[in-house]
Amino acid sequence: MQTKVVKFGGSSLADANQFVKVANIIKADPSRRYVVPSAPGKRFPKDTKVTDMLYACYDVAARGGDFSEMFEAIVARYMEIVRELGLKIEDRLTREFSTIRMSFMARAGRDYAASRGEYLNGIVLANYLGFSFIDAADVIFFGEDGKLRLKETCHAVKDRLSEVGNAVIPGFYGSMPNDTVKTFSRGGSDITGAIVAAAVNADLYENWTDVSGFFVTDPRIVPNPEIIRSITYRELRELAYMGAGVFHEDAIFPVRQAGIPINIRNTNRPEDEGTVITESAPEDSSPYTVTGIAGRRGFVTVTIEKDMMNAELGFGRRVLEVFEKNGISFEHMPSGIDTMSIIVHKDEFEARESSIIEGLRRAVSPDRIDIDRDVALLAVVGRGMRAQRGTAARIFAALAHAKVNVKMIDQGSSELNIIVGITNDDFETSVKAVYDIFVTQRL
Ligand code: ADP
Ligand code: ASP
Ligand code: MG
Repeated sequence: MQTKVVKFGGSSLADANQFVKVANIIKADPSRRYVVPSAPGKRFPKDTKVTDMLYACYDVAARGGDFSEMFEAIVARYMEIVRELGLKIEDRLTREFSTIRMSFMARAGRDYAASRGEYLNGIVLANYLGFSFIDAADVIFFGEDGKLRLKETCHAVKDRLSEVGNAVIPGFYGSMPNDTVKTFSRGGSDITGAIVAAAVNADLYENWTDVSGFFVTDPRIVPNPEIIRSITYRELRELAYMGAGVFHEDAIFPVRQAGIPINIRNTNRPEDEGTVITESAPEDSSPYTVTGIAGRRGFVTVTIEKDMMNAELGFGRRVLEVFEKNGISFEHMPSGIDTMSIIVHKDEFEARESSIIEGLRRAVSPDRIDIDRDVALLAVVGRGMRAQRGTAARIFAALAHAKVNVKMIDQGSSELNIIVGITNDDFETSVKAVYDIFVTQRL
């Protein structure tokens, strides 16, 4: 029999009604054996995710404030689900909540606090499905450096799961060597799902959410964008890294290494096929030249100019060393003959600005340093761009037509993506213009 690992996001488990849908999906296919839940998400647009409630509540507790009311609101979210599902675990949850309350008072940490969202949801879901509950803290390990120990983790997950037929493993957290809880970054349940899939060498990693797949672009900018049917791991990584929010960018490595396909599906429309992510999608599987369009605002370009820079051996290394010493990794580095530009996140740069400028002056004695603080990056990604001549020309024609001024261009040698620098104000116009030409007009 096949083995599928299924991850359900917060909105998929926001209330009892959603739990019923999730159980139906799982029971419809016996190969859906290992389930990774997120914490309950938003039930309606203005609602608050349990994770955010936990962070806010813990912050009050850590300041020594009265957090009772906030805490009770969290208790109520779970109790309502349990009651409506008719589960007899109210006493168990009451005991769990009293431990959590005491840990809040003992300042157990923000990560511990946030992780309880998934932990409790895992207990509820395991009980509802009749599956074993496995605490992620017992099988997912971080090292002293805070980085995931993938090998050790995979061994532990595999060992533990080999003892049970079906299991629920909460997403988003694991444990440090000193047994304290640590979470991944936000949206990190996707990573847990990928780890579990890799550990059991699953045939498929299904990622169930509230949309029917990966959209060509952000639905907040282009309403009802087309859905990408099939996409490669590399394309997904580029798009996720550049801001496409539906799948955590770090969740790709564990499954990619193991060659496990990912399928993004909609809990509210299980009949939809969703998006399939594999190593090499068939060349003709996309009707468009580009696979996806993503981007982010909030970058800074630092341009260093010096006559005869090109003849000065080690110039680039010395420049990059200054950024490295300030703990800043750069995003892009377009260069001219006597200029070199480094694109970095604005907030990170500005926190270290004087030290970086001083460091550059000392390291390479530049003629000029120019700083442009108004940069957004637009990423146009697609395996089809390699075969198609004139893609770049069409992007720039679309941007020119939309009266967008292009500040920077960077095409990776893989020809998988073209990155364009524009002003923050032009960001949405640019996304719409590129979407329109490649998708609406299919040029
Ligand atoms: P979950 O809680 O299920 O993990 P997320 O909120 O993390 O769900 O991700 C799903 C949301 O991502 C969608 O509701 C959608 O609004 C947003 N989103 C942003 N960019 C994209 C994209 N390119 N494709 C699909 N969804 C996107
Ligand atoms: N609940 C966590 C968050 O809101 C993790 C996740 O949903 O994947 O970020
Ligand atoms: Mg998510």
